Order: sequence, then structure tokens, then C-alpha cells
Amino acid sequence: MIVVENLHFAYNGREVLRGIDLTMGKEILALVGPNGSGKTTLAKHLNGLLKPLRGSVLVDGLDTREHTVAELSGKVGYVFQNPEHMFFEESVFEEVAFGPKNLGLDDKEIEERVRWALQAVGLEGFEERTPYSLSGGEKQRLAIACVLAMKPKYLILDEPTTGLDLKAERSVVEVIKSLRESGHGILLITHDMDLVLELAERVVLLDDGRKAFDGPVEEFFELELEEYSLELPELLELARGLGVGFVRSVEELMEVLR
Ligand code: ADP
Repeated sequence: MIVVENLHFAYNGREVLRGIDLTMGKEILALVGPNGSGKTTLAKHLNGLLKPLRGSVLVDGLDTREHTVAELSGKVGYVFQNPEHMFFEESVFEEVAFGPKNLGLDDKEIEERVRWALQAVGLEGFEERTPYSLSGGEKQRLAIACVLAMKPKYLILDEPTTGLDLKAERSVVEVIKSLRESGHGILLITHDMDLVLELAERVVLLDDGRKAFDGPVEEFFELELEEYSLELPELLELARGLGVGFVRSVEELMEVLR
């Protein structure tokens, strides 16, 4: 469990997180809100990249103030936006092996972790490719594999599908679903309300450094989203127009209409 209590944080004296309380377990939690509302700043507290000004962040009981990012990386993995800027090795294998090598693991364990992580994201067979030769969706999945190789329980995915075409987006969505099934907790930072509708179990909405909503996805979509510069997914507009309640997918809508 990740437990955030009364978290305050400021950049150069300007407060951008103003008393956040949050718990997260093995679930897909979408973190949404207007630009500048504090999503990335909050997420960076969960793996210790930033430390609270006031309040606390506990990851499975570990206080992030008392542990380094390296120590916490075995618990919380952070997949940054535009991950291609982070690749620097010559092959996919070496890229994924980088983290485990830094942990000082032996070669056999490193190899096992790399193979396992590449398989988890559907990139087996890509070991010898150079990361720069991958497509957008493959790069995103490689970035997830690099983080997975550290065996974290929780994953933070920052806009994982932004800029991807439909096929690549689908491949990343499938990886997220299978990670959830294998028992990971996932914090999904996104502006894409269709993605929230498809994947999220719970939604936390930030507005100006405060939590404006925290609850089930069904209730989130009952909010006046325009107030937060967010849009209702077309599927839910349509369902509303048809007098149908909350549905997750076109298939579900068809089922209700039948
Ligand atoms: P979001 O992810 O919701 O867009 P951020 O957490 O990136 O929000 O930013 C919250 C606020 O903090 C914004 O006003 C942003 O300009 C400011 N901010 C973010 N990073 C820095 C930084 N490194 N230095 C100073 N201000 C920052």
C-alpha cells in the first residue's frame, strides 16, 4: 500500500501540493487534472524523486524521506513521458539490463529478468535491436520493460499513450491490463478520458494542488468535467443521450440496448 498523508510541496517557495491524502493498492488508479495541477509533482513523491515539504509518503511502510530513489525503485517504478529521451544503450537487451546490473545482480539473474520483462511487454525477439530503431509503441513498451526489470510492485505511467497511433496505443493498453492482472498497482497519469474509461478502477482528480475528487470511475464521470478542462468520452455522451447509465465499452452499451 502507498499511503500519502497531508502532503505539501513547494518549488522555490511556491506551494503546488496543498495537503494531499491518498492511498493506493493493487489497482489501476488514474491521476487526472488540468495542466499544472500537480500530477507529476505528486507522482514524483511516490518513488522518492521528490521529498515532502510537510506530511509523509509511505510505500509499503517505508518512509520515502528515509530511503533513496535507488532503494525505492524496487517498489515503485516510474515510466516517464517521452521515454525515448532516456535510452542510451546500444541494444534493447542492454537497455533493460541496465537497472538490474546497477543492483549488482549476477549475470544469470540479470538475463532472467531481462527476458521476463521483455516477454511481459511483448518484445521478445527484440534483444539485439537498437532502441532507436523501435516504433513509438515499442519504445513505450521498452520503457515499461526497463522499469519492470527492477521488479517493482507499483508502476507510475506518465501519459503512456500520448503521441501513439491506434495500433501502438492498443499494444500499450494490453500491457497495462496484463500488468494489472499480474498483481501490480498502477498509477496512470493521463489526459485521455477514453483511456480512463477503459482502464481505471479509481480516479483521483487534482485541481490547483488539491484533491478535487477521489472515487470510483463511474462517479468521476458524473462530475462537470469542463470545469477541469476535461471532456466526457463520446461513448458516455452517447450513452447519456440514449438514456443509458455508465458503460465501459461499445460492447457493453450494445448489450444494455439489446
Ligand atoms: P501537472 O503534472 O499536473 O501538469 P506539475 O506537477 O508538472 O503539474 O506542476 C505543478 C506546478 O508546479 C505548475 O505550476 C508547474 O509550473 C510547477 N512546476 C513543476 N515543476 C517545476 C520545477 N521544476 N520548478 C518550478 N516549478 C515547477
